[in-house]
Amino acid sequence: MRPPSLLGLLPSELEALARELGASAYRGRQVATWLYRKGVLDLDAMTDLPREFRERLRERARIGLPAVERVIPSRDGSQKFILRLADQGRVHSVLMPDEDRLTLCLSTQVGCGFACAFCHTGTMGIERNLGVDEIVGQLLLANAALPPHQRVTHLVFMGMGEPLANYANTVTAIRILTDARYGLGYSPRRITVSTVGLVSGIEKLAREELGVNLAISLHATTDAVRERLMPVNRSWNLDALLGAVRRFPLPTRRRIFFEYVLLDQVNTSLDDARRLASLLRGIRAKVNLIPFNDWEGAEFRRPPLSTILAFQSVLLDAGITTTVRWSKGEDIGAACGQLSEPLERAVG
Ligand code: SF4
Repeated sequence: MRPPSLLGLLPSELEALARELGASAYRGRQVATWLYRKGVLDLDAMTDLPREFRERLRERARIGLPAVERVIPSRDGSQKFILRLADQGRVHSVLMPDEDRLTLCLSTQVGCGFACAFCHTGTMGIERNLGVDEIVGQLLLANAALPPHQRVTHLVFMGMGEPLANYANTVTAIRILTDARYGLGYSPRRITVSTVGLVSGIEKLAREELGVNLAISLHATTDAVRERLMPVNRSWNLDALLGAVRRFPLPTRRRIFFEYVLLDQVNTSLDDARRLASLLRGIRAKVNLIPFNDWEGAEFRRPPLSTILAFQSVLLDAGITTTVRWSKGEDIGAACGQLSEPLERAVG
């Protein structure tokens, strides 16, 4: 069995490990600072640690980090990182610059088991969950690829996989990302967890008090259409999902994000738009409309611009903040639901 990875341990776990190895908790905090605050992943470079302690650490643990197999730049400035994991599995993360933001879209699983009909990743099936080190590692690698003094500003758990289906590792990763003293120090306001609608996961997340943003992949306004698009709707229908969303503790001046992929002739009628407005009544909501990104073999099409704008108008008229997300990274297959698509091309 491979030794555990130091990367991915909470600062408190690193303290406990240091004590177990006969050192003080302070040494554990030093390791956390090197890993997370300084992004240093080589024990030999952790110069203020006694050599003996470094040796003992080396015997007990490794520093796991995915390998960057390839970086694919997009015309719009996005960059897709294809990462190879220790067991040869592959995932992607996507860095998306936007005005003063640098957002990284993180993966949480190899593949995805939820089989949404419009999603290319869903055609892969699930291989396994990512470890905490493999989730946090995506961010360290992206930060390391940026020029000095620049770092990722926002994080979205919206890449390959369903974060709430890899619940424990996602939550631990968020705790490391938001630990202001010895972790990466990201404000929870800058982190968004996107879910396909796992009500049990949303309810658990609500109790963690992490303060992160929640995004819901909604994509339909009736159970019949949602079931066709998203099999998860058979376990938790719209009523159950929106009930959990209404109970989710929302800090003042924050909103729940709703993702709605626009599929021509499927979920884009004016009746759909009106139903959506009525479903969201009473929720502090922001809707992101995502015109479908075609992929080979997909049974759906992107609607014409006039349909997109008419749909948006209904929501705006109902007082709901609504943006159209002209997906970033389309030419590299990095847009939502396309993450598996160019892999074969990239490595094959
Ligand atoms: S949309 Fe998300 S949950 Fe659905 S299959 Fe794709 S990756 Fe999985």
